[in-house]
Amino acid sequence: MIKINVAQQLKHTVGVAKQYKVSETDEALGLNIYGELNLVRTDKGILVTGKLNTLKKLACSRCLSVFDHPVSLDFLEEYVPTMDVISGTPLSTPDGLFTITNNHEICLDDALSQYEVLALPMKPLCRPDCKGLCDHCGSNLNIEDCSCSNTIDPRWAALAGLALNDIQGNSREE
Ligand SMILES: [Zn+2]
Ligand SMILES: [Zn+2]
Repeated sequence: MIKINVAQQLKHTVGVAKQYKVSETDEALGLNIYGELNLVRTDKGILVTGKLNTLKKLACSRCLSVFDHPVSLDFLEEYVPTMDVISGTPLSTPDGLFTITNNHEICLDDALSQYEVLALPMKPLCRPDCKGLCDHCGSNLNIEDCSCSNTIDPRWAALAGLALNDIQGNSREE
């Protein structure tokens, strides 16, 4: 959970800004997240902007190995209070905006998981030229060349047959 207490800032006048450094390990989201946020008091609540960086563990869509995928999120959300910070009276909140908790905390997790979904590739690759898995034996071709990767084009089969016979013939002679 990444939570920022904004009780003090809600008491400020519109336009007052505050920097907030994020450096968290979030077990629930399974990521390390770091960056810097700018929190500005608006007439409605608190506008949070900034860039957050994280490494997300993804499985490669070709070779299935798990790798760290760097994700950079441009954060921009306005959080509105559900109650008045001074009087404690409940406030009506506009639809579609994230709310500040009754403890005057902004919790970034919901927004972050939404941002993350958008930032993640549909078909993640561990590297651009990932060779994937062999269709026949399932070997990871980034790590090893399996023998089926020499699958013979039918047009060359006859020639390969000759070559194979030669090799076998030679080994018999030894
Ligand atoms: Zn891969
Ligand atoms: Zn193979």
